[in-house]
Amino acid sequence: MPDLHIGGRWVGSDKGDRREIVCPADGTPVVTVDEGGPADAAAAVLAARQAFDHGPWPRLPAAERGALLLRVAEILERDRFEIARAESMDTGKRAVESEYDVADVVSVFRYYGGLCMSGDQGRVADNGRDDVVSHVVQEPVGVCALITPWNYPLLQTSWKVAPALAAGNAFVLKPSELTPSTAILLMRSLIEAGLPDGVANLVLGAGPTAGAPLVEHPAVDLVSFTGGLVTGRAVMAAAAGTVKKIALELGGKNPNIVFPDADLEAALDMALTAVFLHSGQVCSAGTRLLVHRDLREPFVAELAERADRIRLGGPFDPDAETGPLISAGHLAKVEAYVAAGLAEGATLRCGGRRPGDPGLRDGFYYRPTILDDCMSGMRVVQEESFGPVLTVETFVTEAEAVELANDSIYGLAGAVWTRDADLARRVADRLRLGTVWINDYHPYVPQAEWGGFKQSGVGRELGPAGLAEYQETKHIWQNTRPRPQRWFGG
Ligand code: NDP
Repeated sequence: MPDLHIGGRWVGSDKGDRREIVCPADGTPVVTVDEGGPADAAAAVLAARQAFDHGPWPRLPAAERGALLLRVAEILERDRFEIARAESMDTGKRAVESEYDVADVVSVFRYYGGLCMSGDQGRVADNGRDDVVSHVVQEPVGVCALITPWNYPLLQTSWKVAPALAAGNAFVLKPSELTPSTAILLMRSLIEAGLPDGVANLVLGAGPTAGAPLVEHPAVDLVSFTGGLVTGRAVMAAAAGTVKKIALELGGKNPNIVFPDADLEAALDMALTAVFLHSGQVCSAGTRLLVHRDLREPFVAELAERADRIRLGGPFDPDAETGPLISAGHLAKVEAYVAAGLAEGATLRCGGRRPGDPGLRDGFYYRPTILDDCMSGMRVVQEESFGPVLTVETFVTEAEAVELANDSIYGLAGAVWTRDADLARRVADRLRLGTVWINDYHPYVPQAEWGGFKQSGVGRELGPAGLAEYQETKHIWQNTRPRPQRWFGG
């Protein structure tokens, strides 16, 4: 079966191009898929436009859209092992992590299905007139281009697809060229659930050839993008040409602040998870450890010892604790960041190399790495390596900790560890971050918004604000007793 989905049909690409997907864990071929380009992107936009302007979906009662989202959740849950397996083959991540991801995806569809059921009919605004009704309603934005990355392919797609559909939009999805499989499976689930033709369209292909035409297309009303900062800036600039609505999720350099009175066992354990989960390929990874000077030596020594014991392996290796990087190119980028850090004066405490295990030679693996003696100005501290690389800086005062934490162009997420609830709250209030964890790291829920301050992005995903991104607000002024005003003499 062909892999692009346009206007309710599975089709091949206009040019007939194909792309082979390989598993990052060992380089084995996973699947070959159709590779779309500008003509396919344009066809998908027109199909979405047609479905939005003339189809039933935007005009259905919200509860009916909600019922469909709940059906999608059931289908995804039924097929969770097949979906998780496909995700692991494309990304190289452990099967168990992909299963957690699919469970989270199911929750996202349930959450937005439930929001549709809440029966929100907008509001009546008090306009001070007894002859006029002011009704404020939410409407779908229109045609949405949804562009997603390779690190959590289906999860990040669900953060866009579920609210876009809940609001009544039509969309074109362009997943990362490296990880298309679960987008295809999601599309099948939407079709099985009964989504009308043309509402959901899928174009596979490379960013510049399949993604950029979506961003530039005048018939697209909104672009929601998750990925790197450099691409995000290009997307924002391209979207300006037709003044599209945009939502951007662009990653972070997230501080993990440890005060001396913290529960150290929990802080140590979670500092590892914060940065080395999915080998650091997480936008909210806690890549900057800010530790009190008195604590630094024992804390970092213990952290390095534990990091050295982390077992690397492929998706189905029961002993593996984390997997490979996504590609040879990404591995080279991470290596270059570590080399730059060392050249700028950092001290290597562990890692800093590919694993020696011959069984891992064909995959894109990199050992968990800790760089000590870092300074705020270093590139490895400021730029997102998106790999298993932790930098260590020290502070003495609370004010210093806050200043270091905020010394970044990013502002996505971070954590503070202390037993002093007042101190924790003071620091949390002063951090310029979209999410702050106190004595924890990484949890999120569909009910709470996710997104970044500063150059970590524009807008929010999840929660009610994640739905609002996909809505336009309209004020309908209804004069029930119209009469001439005689502004002009007439
Ligand atoms: P990109 O930002 O390049 O890609 C994200 C998505 O955008 C992909 O679907 C990509 O397609 C697409 N894309 C690329 N160029 C364009 C364009 N000009 N117009 C429209 N869409 C485009 O991320 P990468 O996957 O290459 O990763 C690069 C870096 O981004 C990482 O090293 C990491 O630092 C960061 N990143 C951040 C993530 C986050 O969660 N915030 C997630 C993933 C990456 P294609 O894949 O085909 O190139």
